[in-house]
Amino acid sequence: MHARRTEYAAWAEHAAWMREALAEAALALEAGEVPVGAVVVRGNQMIARAHNAREASADPTAHAEMLAIRRAAATLGAWRLAGCSLYVTLEPCPMCAGAIVYSRLDAVFYGAADTRAGCCGSLYRLTEDPAFAHDVPAHGGLLAAPCEALLTRFFAAKRPNAKGGPTSCEL
Ligand SMILES: [Zn+2]
Repeated sequence: MHARRTEYAAWAEHAAWMREALAEAALALEAGEVPVGAVVVRGNQMIARAHNAREASADPTAHAEMLAIRRAAATLGAWRLAGCSLYVTLEPCPMCAGAIVYSRLDAVFYGAADTRAGCCGSLYRLTEDPAFAHDVPAHGGLLAAPCEALLTRFFAAKRPNAKGGPTSCEL
């Protein structure tokens, strides 16, 4: 019983951070961007939050994860994000998975899987590849349904006749 309670408490904590990432994704949706949000957390403190801003900044690297990682490093005044976890609403692409490894995060939690570009389990497990000196455990499926729902809403509004699920290839 106690173990189950502890497990639930841990899940609830992760889910609470993912809800913050979802709030960021909703801001992206309002701004007409592909709705992906991310937060970086250390201990029980959020140190950075960001949403996809590719259109607004005309920057192909302005994915939510990249911006959140940059802001977290700026907040800490250090490029090493050891002791920090990243929560993101969509499975990271190869670029973001690379940045996750290079920032030495402790862990990454994502919501919706990306079967076309996801590099934390779908196509590849880049962050856990032992070929790299540092590996970052990736945990998918956290509040996947609301994360997917935002993406579906965005793509349905953009292309009413489009078939198929959302993907960060669209980013
Ligand atoms: Zn990305």
